[in-house]
Amino acid sequence: MEARVGKAVIELLQGDITEQDTDAIVNAANRTLLGGGGVDGAIHRAAGPQLLAECRTLGGCETGGAKITRGYKLKAKHVIHTVGPIYHAAGKKAPELLASCYQRSLEVASANKLTSIAFPSISTGAYGYPLEEAAPVALKAVLDYLKSHSDIQRVSFVLFGKDAYQAYQEALRDLWPSESKSN
Ligand code: ADP
Repeated sequence: MEARVGKAVIELLQGDITEQDTDAIVNAANRTLLGGGGVDGAIHRAAGPQLLAECRTLGGCETGGAKITRGYKLKAKHVIHTVGPIYHAAGKKAPELLASCYQRSLEVASANKLTSIAFPSISTGAYGYPLEEAAPVALKAVLDYLKSHSDIQRVSFVLFGKDAYQAYQEALRDLWPSESKSN
């Protein structure tokens, strides 16, 4: 499923983000940026040990922030590492911190002249953010960015499994008028 925002496209895919050949893939990392489980572990395994070596030079990252590295063995040229909120620890700040992950990642992409970027569903695994709450926050943050920046051409959400895909599909349908979508 995809939706147009001006000349840009937001697309929803079900699959594995490590296989994407976008300019950058986004990693749902933790504050150390030194690797972890879930999508973080999968990205480090696919990129090879040089990714961890570069991450060691970054000095970690605050929640809601984003930092870029090269992609090494990945098809994607870059990895943008962002740190989502831990749902129960963040309390009322969870939505703004989650939105910040998407916004800051897109800012880093723009600053590096990248035009296509793939996101996983940040915070909805180990960090416990309910999919139905995270999906509209994620899509709205990307929509707001694309409305005010014309450099990014394609934003893909690569959803791992049917439940995640369906949650984002529903949220996209709620946000968009029907004529702007196709399958
Ligand atoms: P967080 O700590 O931010 O919650 P997780 O990696 O635990 O990060 O989960 C974030 C989301 O990434 C979950 O929805 C999980 O199903 C998904 N995920 C795990 N592996 C992959 C992958 N290879 N590609 C895309 N998404 C993935």
